[in-house]
Amino acid sequence: MSGLRRARGYSPMSATPESSAVLADVLATIRACVARGGTPVVGFDLDGCVFDTRPRQVHIFRELASRRGFDALYRVEVEHFKDWSLANSMRNAGLAEAFIAAHEPEVRQWWASHFFTTEYVLYDHAMPGAVSFCRACADAGAIVIYLTGRDIKMRAGTEEALRRFGFPYDDVSAVLITKPTFEMDDTAFKESALEAIAARGEVVSYFDNEPANVNLFHERHPAAKVVFVETDHSPRPVEPVEAIPWIRSFLLV
Ligand SMILES: [Mg+2]
Repeated sequence: MSGLRRARGYSPMSATPESSAVLADVLATIRACVARGGTPVVGFDLDGCVFDTRPRQVHIFRELASRRGFDALYRVEVEHFKDWSLANSMRNAGLAEAFIAAHEPEVRQWWASHFFTTEYVLYDHAMPGAVSFCRACADAGAIVIYLTGRDIKMRAGTEEALRRFGFPYDDVSAVLITKPTFEMDDTAFKESALEAIAARGEVVSYFDNEPANVNLFHERHPAAKVVFVETDHSPRPVEPVEAIPWIRSFLLV
């Protein structure tokens, strides 16, 4: 197991020769598919994959901090979001246990009522290099599909964010697929969406930060270059299968 595999958490500037080779291999696979007359399809998850959601979370924390006079919450910066526990994020920022115990339920309620909204996805940042890579995929001849667990109510903000950061979106080679309802399980939704994607062409590659999702795509499309993007992911005790390469950055070295 390489050092790249063991490294966990967001580190979007951490490009390595190995991660660059993974990205180059995907582009070569797209070109090979086009060369033999195929229609290559590349899928990208959004949250924690081509978008860094931590700025959205910091913004949500600071609005609550300001409104409620919770000044200590301003200590929470992007690097403190290491998993899906908001208590851990506050702890990582050095907030007092007494504050966390007293206010975590309110913070969590505030977070949950803002994070999954079309307005707040606009606070996300594109992962460095992600736009260039998505464009390179489209330029090489691939249909770029954004396959997200965001639901239909978050679609308008998602489209705006894709446009603002310059992702290929407003052309025939790019498609956004959102969940029909918030309640639907992300992996079950992506499993059903897979068939729709496969109908558009040959699925040559798929990128996601959720181990269960990359494992599913790898199982259904064993010939595709499925890539695990190490940022953060759900607390489900699932690891990407050994055959799946990891990247932490879309930058090239
Ligand atoms: Mg994700």
